[in-house]
Amino acid sequence: MPHPSIIVSGVEVTPLCDAVGPMGAAIRRPLAEMFAGSVLQEEPWVLHFHCYLLRDAAGRLTLVDTGIGGADSPAASWAPVPGTLAGELAAAGVTPAEIGTVILTHLHSDHASGAVADGRPVFENARYVLQQAEADAAEGPMREIVSCLKSQLHAVEGDAEVAPGVHVRFAPGHTPGHQIARVGDVAITGDLVLHPVQLADPSVRYLYDDDQETAARTRAEVLAALKAERAILATAHFSEPFVRL
Ligand SMILES: [Zn+2]
Ligand SMILES: [Zn+2]
Repeated sequence: MPHPSIIVSGVEVTPLCDAVGPMGAAIRRPLAEMFAGSVLQEEPWVLHFHCYLLRDAAGRLTLVDTGIGGADSPAASWAPVPGTLAGELAAAGVTPAEIGTVILTHLHSDHASGAVADGRPVFENARYVLQQAEADAAEGPMREIVSCLKSQLHAVEGDAEVAPGVHVRFAPGHTPGHQIARVGDVAITGDLVLHPVQLADPSVRYLYDDDQETAARTRAEVLAALKAERAILATAHFSEPFVRL
């Protein structure tokens, strides 16, 4: 448990650090290429891979993202597998069966691969919340994950309250159905932002945004709104999980 929890509006928000490491050579590019429009100097970019556990006052548990998965994950070509989500959950005193809701910010291999294992949902009692647009666009291994979820899949369109006090907000661009999660002052932002340089300048593009125009527009709009309320970002890939805007 490398990162401490915070409590907001009576909900404990615990970062689960699934992995730490550089992006693998298969997709790594110079930083100035990955973040076009930035003034980043070249240096090693060490990513953290964070999921988040929400525990409300009634003990209800929501997991946001499921990490990079096992050694055979589709993320294995570029991310430091296997992920340690199971150990992080155990350290937080939680078993997979206790999770009531899983929110998948999007279907990329470092966020969704831990959702299923051996052809079955890992979180056997959970509803898995995904945007319909994301489910519709899923291909290859991500399509298989969606199929494995079967009746546990809870597809939503746009903004929705998915557990008491826990909302998802549609934030497309990185992928067609990318969403962020909100609880109290905290915004769990998935891949809305990849690198701190995009907080200073949301117009900085990320090479692996599916639709860079839409992603930049969404990033600017969402970050402006979050700044206005002095929200706390809970990021997937920064080395410090929480950033107060
Ligand atoms: Zn971390
Ligand atoms: Zn990611």
